[in-house]
Amino acid sequence: MLTYPYENPPADGESIEVAPGVFWIRMPLPFALDHINLWLLRDVKDGIVGWTIVDTGYGSAETRALWERHFVETMQSQPVHRIIVTHYHPDHVGCANWLHERTGAPLWMTATEFMSAHAAADDAAGFDRDNSAKLFVSHGIARVRPDFAAAQATRTAAFKRGVAGVPRQYHRMMDGDDIEIGRRQWRVSTVFGHAPEHAVLFCAADKLLISGDQVLPRISTNVGVWGNQPEANPLKQFLDSFDKFSAMPDDTLILPSHGRVFRGLHTRIAELKQHHQDRLADLLAALAEPKAAADVLGVLFKRSLDDHQLVFAIGEAIAHLHYLWHRGTATRAQDREGVYLFQRAAGKL
Ligand SMILES: [Zn+2]
Repeated sequence: MLTYPYENPPADGESIEVAPGVFWIRMPLPFALDHINLWLLRDVKDGIVGWTIVDTGYGSAETRALWERHFVETMQSQPVHRIIVTHYHPDHVGCANWLHERTGAPLWMTATEFMSAHAAADDAAGFDRDNSAKLFVSHGIARVRPDFAAAQATRTAAFKRGVAGVPRQYHRMMDGDDIEIGRRQWRVSTVFGHAPEHAVLFCAADKLLISGDQVLPRISTNVGVWGNQPEANPLKQFLDSFDKFSAMPDDTLILPSHGRVFRGLHTRIAELKQHHQDRLADLLAALAEPKAAADVLGVLFKRSLDDHQLVFAIGEAIAHLHYLWHRGTATRAQDREGVYLFQRAAGKL
């Protein structure tokens, strides 16, 4: 069972101290998922009391105005010593450059996330919209949205909308690093599938886990295939990453990026694994006939999808199909238009 020690999340500009010196704050997001949780950890550097920030919020004027309020009210005008970003997605890295310039604090990030933030901001390394659009077309997206390619061309890059620059220097975090923040030791673990080298932070002494987007209490994390890794198997990476949590106690207090702070780590991991196994089983049942990712959206998603959600949904559908394909329970072929079709392998169900 999951338990939630706090009935309500902090309101805009307010905070909740979830452990001594660990503050939960929230920032708004302009999406259906309308908020992100950020963490302020009391820290000491060179004898000066200040703060480490974990994740920065979407790069909007609204978020920056709330930060200004937190600097004074929550952080009592004390200095920021460090900005940790768990991964490169806009709601996490969006205000990193602004905070870096505003406070002078260094950015801490894993190498792949730092490089990915720059690549996404610069449309480099295959992070551009066209590259993913091509992938989605090869998975049949035009069958459900005939105008998809044309609509993509006219939209501005979503990443740049939420990220006003990325710092040009950083401190590299690596799997297994121990970071001292205040009087606590936090162990870095890297997890995969949602982002290329997502960092989570675990404090064993106080049983605290900053889980980023890897373990969320209510929604399941987006795990998708994107244009620059067209044959990737991110769902396997995502599920395998849960092994990193196996030694953590079940009563660990989990500080997730979305939803409320909760306990029940292993229950939640079991639920998430089951959720994906159920979807894989539904998918396999639907693959008696060859189908493209676009054909199975209705199997995986019961609700209707707007254009923004469609991009994530098809990426997620490809991820589930690739899991079956890489495992050998489904085969892959291309039809005359070059669209990939997946079918249940003989004798597999
Ligand atoms: Zn994310």
